Amino acid sequence: MTIKTSDRLSKIKPSPTFELAQKAKEMKAAGRDVISLTLGEPDFDTPDHIKAAGKKAIDEGFTKYTPVPGIPELKDAIRHKFKEDNGLDYARDEVMASTGGKQSLYNALMASVNEGDEVIIPAPYWVSYPDMTLLAQGIPVIVECSDKDGFRLNAEALKSAITDKTKWLILNSPSNPTGATYSQDDLRKIADVLVEFPHVNILSDEIYEHLTYEGFVCVSILQVAPELKDRTVIVNGLAKAFSMTGWRMGFAAGPKEIIAAMTKVQSQSTSNPCSIVQKAAITALTEPRDFLDGWIAKFKERRDLVWERMNEIPGLTCYKSEGAFYLYPNCGAFINKKSPDGIVINSDADFVSYLLESFEVAVVPGSAFGLSPFFRISYAASVDELNRACDRIREACASLS
Ligand code: GLU
Repeated sequence: MTIKTSDRLSKIKPSPTFELAQKAKEMKAAGRDVISLTLGEPDFDTPDHIKAAGKKAIDEGFTKYTPVPGIPELKDAIRHKFKEDNGLDYARDEVMASTGGKQSLYNALMASVNEGDEVIIPAPYWVSYPDMTLLAQGIPVIVECSDKDGFRLNAEALKSAITDKTKWLILNSPSNPTGATYSQDDLRKIADVLVEFPHVNILSDEIYEHLTYEGFVCVSILQVAPELKDRTVIVNGLAKAFSMTGWRMGFAAGPKEIIAAMTKVQSQSTSNPCSIVQKAAITALTEPRDFLDGWIAKFKERRDLVWERMNEIPGLTCYKSEGAFYLYPNCGAFINKKSPDGIVINSDADFVSYLLESFEVAVVPGSAFGLSPFFRISYAASVDELNRACDRIREACASLS
């Protein structure tokens, strides 16, 4: 290597979700019949009225720099969203837009974490929380949440993880990778602990908030505990509920000082989010979301199908989660088993690579999300693909002894 990379970089790995999705794509391109249930990406098209707003922005020449945190009309659309959906009031200097929700999370950690600060991350977690914390020179403090607790952080575990150095608790409901969703009661119990520790801030990733099933109501922690507002940053975005993953539009709301600090980080990295996407985002956030009910009905049908089919496979158990578009089956019964070709399964990563290499189904191992032995299925795929993937997983499991 000619350019030596930083010590900081050596502490992190590439995003495993993207890596596996890329591997599945390459195998497909090489002619293999791979079914990829890797990336958390809705398979619906972006709604037409949102696309039209993007096209109009281009035609009208709205293609120049904008203010770093987004144009005032977008900030107002973000404020409108928080008021309408969550009953939360924010001023213009308490919100900002970013290039995907991911960048808002990154901005928040880079703007606030000092070397040695601790960030409590309930596991299983979304792959980027610990690595972003490490890049900011913080220490991820992983608190495991078992499937018996519905993969939710319980108040006692939170309390015992808090130290004088705790800077943030990262909450994610509904969760990636499990789909687990906190009820108002769950959130109140967590908030009661947080009230005791005023130095702990809350970074609440609510990007899946609209995707819940059977009427499960997902609320923000601030709706349950408004007293935490002066130390909470909410992150959200358009990728999941509006099927706009590639557009990269996220946003954050919080106290004006931290939003200003996050804006400073962004001003020295990417500047404003894409001007065209800002216009599309205003439409997305202010127009009715008539398309969403149909999407949710489809996701529910797929969740029920995959959940039933996973639990029918001897050896697999799967918690039925309330939201997002992920299931997280437990494959512990297959550890130490062997395939007819002599492949030994020592971990969930081995199980997942056996599924991919021998049965051409791509999923993500629990090791990527900090809780093994599990694997994540993204059920944002057609019923036909899901059925074929479930057939293959059943066959794969039956071949292990
Ligand atoms: N959040 C999605 C996932 O977990 C997209 C990929 C990523 O940003 O890691 O699959």
